[in-house]
Amino acid sequence: MVAALLFLVPAADTLLPGSPVLPPGARDLWPGDAVVSRGRRSTVVGHDHGGAGGETGAGGVKLDDVARRADVAGLRVSAVLGRPVRPLIVVPDSAAEAARLAGVARLDGLAAVADGGRVILVPELFASLNPTGKNVVLAHELTHVVAGTDRLPVWLYEGFADYVGYRDAGLPVATAAAELAAEVRAGRLPSALPGPDAFAADGRDPDRLARAYQAAWLACRFLADRFGERTLVRLYREAQAAGVDRALASLGLSVATLTARWRAYVRDQLA
Ligand SMILES: [Zn+2]
Repeated sequence: MVAALLFLVPAADTLLPGSPVLPPGARDLWPGDAVVSRGRRSTVVGHDHGGAGGETGAGGVKLDDVARRADVAGLRVSAVLGRPVRPLIVVPDSAAEAARLAGVARLDGLAAVADGGRVILVPELFASLNPTGKNVVLAHELTHVVAGTDRLPVWLYEGFADYVGYRDAGLPVATAAAELAAEVRAGRLPSALPGPDAFAADGRDPDRLARAYQAAWLACRFLADRFGERTLVRLYREAQAAGVDRALASLGLSVATLTARWRAYVRDQLA
């Protein structure tokens, strides 16, 4: 019933009368105050601020630009996971509204968050990223949406999302993992795969959170380099079904042996 109130801005495709207007996850957003931009496969929903064609979302985030980037990110996720991806991106007006939509207290330090079948942008931070960063963030969050995170250790699902996010970004490893590289060059190599504490938002030390993501990324990048990307994807699915220990055992690894080999890989890549 909300759909009839939406102001639609078809971009790459044209909506036919009577065709489904919005996917689940966006239908009940902001009745009477929503604007939609469509890419080839993506749908982006924001507040209607009355800009020409409803093109401008909150915080300088342009919905058409997000739709184009979401198309690119969706193809990257699709290439790794081997299934079609139809991104749904929600652009609220503020970090506070993003947190409310995601049902969490705050979203410190995040540019976007996966929430069920959709990605919610944190407009202030997303707008501050360069184009490469925006594409990486969208591919990262879409990976969570498509691959799921249940029953997995945090290093695996965050590392896997960054693996997909950075796979086609064209960034040198030491650039994408700059904060961890600084630690390694100072002689401090992480001793364990990052756990939930390492990913807890800490406004006082944003580098710490960055290092946790980078450490997790390099664990998955190591697995893909050593065993192949398809094996990494299979490991991810096996870990969801049977637990990470069983999944690693199928590669002849335990968490301890993976940790040892990951540490050597981190030193090799970043020192
Ligand atoms: Zn994530």
